[in-house]
Amino acid sequence: MTRRIDFSKYSSIKIGPIVEVRLIDTVEAFSDEVFIIGGANNLLVSPHPKPLAMLSKHFDYITLHDKQLTVGGATKSGRIFSFVKKHDIKGFEYLGKLPGTLGGLVYMNAGMKEDEIFNHLVKIKTAKGYISKEEIAFGYRFTDIDDIIYEAVFDVEEGFDHEKLALFTKMRANQPKDPSPGSAFKNPNGDYAGRLIEAVGMKGYHIGDAAFSDVHANFLVNLGNATFKDALTLLNLAKEKVFQKFGIALENEVQIV
Ligand SMILES: Cc1cc2nc3c(=O)[nH]c(=O)nc-3n(C[C@H](O)[C@H](O)[C@H](O)COP(=O)(O)OP(=O)(O)OC[C@H]3O[C@@H](n4cnc5c(N)ncnc54)[C@H](O)[C@@H]3O)c2cc1C
Repeated sequence: MTRRIDFSKYSSIKIGPIVEVRLIDTVEAFSDEVFIIGGANNLLVSPHPKPLAMLSKHFDYITLHDKQLTVGGATKSGRIFSFVKKHDIKGFEYLGKLPGTLGGLVYMNAGMKEDEIFNHLVKIKTAKGYISKEEIAFGYRFTDIDDIIYEAVFDVEEGFDHEKLALFTKMRANQPKDPSPGSAFKNPNGDYAGRLIEAVGMKGYHIGDAAFSDVHANFLVNLGNATFKDALTLLNLAKEKVFQKFGIALENEVQIV
């Protein structure tokens, strides 16, 4: 089965072609030939991407048993957020402000401030079976997972933190409103990508309709009709300028397909 996806509508940056994406209905081995997508909140899809696949609704579930939260790979952050709020669970408050599916969140080790999805992770389910957190290398917006994530299991701590949610809500209020995949680059060790982009004069800079936001320099935004080429050229130019001036090699946070 496939699902026809128009990435100029589906992706958060509103760029990309119309593609038949294979729907995965059962747990199966992963082929390197295929790129797995979640909610496309962190993707820049080229006009001719490799074959794409995504988890079907079959993997959209969330359950709580024996102080463990089990979440299907296709479950959206909004659903997880509502569940943890209702059940007074702590440590996932940022999911109210962060778009994605469980698979994308875990693969990216997504989060806000010091809260990230690996903080409460116990194990993930792949076609090879369950893999415990200890077997996975992970860090800031990084994991070495090279399989499809079908499910993840989390430990549960009581006490949904309303103050934290208020803090994340406030942080988001200052965020650009244009279509975007969020941060263009990961923050280099001990520095901020936004500061570096600004320092090379690229805050608000655009190529075609692809820009670094004038609100937050590290936000890649689509001002209207940006193309894949505009966005890629912009990213590469910033990398070049930052490297020339500071000798720092910026690493993409947005995933290029
Ligand atoms: C406005 C905005 C703000 C954002 N702010 C933040 C932020 O503060 N912090 C943060 O961390 N991120 C942020 N992001 C980025 C985004 O929310 C996260 O990266 C999120 O985890 C993406 O999830 P997704 O399902 O959309 O994944 P996609 O964008 O579809 O994919 C992202 C990566 O995950 C992989 N992947 C997806 N599903 C699976 C799966 N089932 N198994 C294995 N790999 C998979 C893909 O192959 C790809 O490499 C922001 C995005 C937007 C649009």
